[in-house]
Amino acid sequence: ALRAALSSWQGPGRTADGHQVPLLANVGGPGELRDAAGAGAEGIGLYRTEFLFLGRSEPPSEEEQRQAYEEALAAFPDGKVVVRTLDVGADKPLAFVPAPAAEPNPALGERGLRRFRRFPGVMETQLGALAAVGSERLRVMAPMVATAAEAAWFAQMCRAKGLTDVGVMIEIPAAALRAGDVLAAVDFVSIGTNDLSQYAFAADRRLGAMSALHDPWQPALLDLVALAAGAAGEAGKPCGICGEAAADPALACVLVGLGAGTLSMAPSALAAVRAGLGAHTLEQCRRAAGVAREQETAADARAAARVHLPELG
Ligand code: PEP
Ligand code: MG
Repeated sequence: ALRAALSSWQGPGRTADGHQVPLLANVGGPGELRDAAGAGAEGIGLYRTEFLFLGRSEPPSEEEQRQAYEEALAAFPDGKVVVRTLDVGADKPLAFVPAPAAEPNPALGERGLRRFRRFPGVMETQLGALAAVGSERLRVMAPMVATAAEAAWFAQMCRAKGLTDVGVMIEIPAAALRAGDVLAAVDFVSIGTNDLSQYAFAADRRLGAMSALHDPWQPALLDLVALAAGAAGEAGKPCGICGEAAADPALACVLVGLGAGTLSMAPSALAAVRAGLGAHTLEQCRRAAGVAREQETAADARAAARVHLPELG
């Protein structure tokens, strides 16, 4: 019974020497809330809100949205919930916020936060719904932010509604390179390694043929993460990771070694990441991160990091 209890242990994320790393869930709709809670997530690090908007001719009302956000908070009575504002564009077209007529490269077009320069009302309603929830456990962040000016614009809209815990995703290389400037405008950042990789390597994330470039162990991606996490450390503001990279137990240790304070992932990945992190000290994670960044290839970075993470086998 003891062994069973230990193997299903779902306590808070931490390294072997007790450095706390909250392990959070990426959630894409209300149906996944229960999975996330059941897997022992300590909160939601990325609540993708596209599900509320897709397949509709009109945006959901403020009241409908408020209920959805309250439901997410109710699923995690003790945890924080990071709600990401609508990430429209590219593969997610929406009739009520149409793309500009000619967009030869939608992934490089008016997507994410950018779209709401032309449709501020949709953003106003979403932020209004979030403010109406009125919870201190609620955090709000914007996708696809490229510059500090965009981060400041979003933060200003949020604060005008009374929202106090405001962040942005770092998923465009320019934002990682100037993360210090971006952080000056917001309370926290969350690194989205999926798009950060796509844009750093100029390789469409949906193209299987590009998978070698999307390997999240690519040293150039680790460098960008290190830049952003380092800037957050200097600013004294939280920096999480919410891309797929956090779901790999060895890479999760490396990301912590690079300075990530929280990791958010698919609920199914939580147990292995919790165990991997709990088996290594913060110093081991830092050493693994250091040697990984010294390599030239993703494969070498993975192999070099593993030497310092012996418990992962
Ligand atoms: C990311 O880009 O890494 C991310 C977490 O967001 P999404 O996968 O929804 O684009
Ligand atoms: Mg993204």
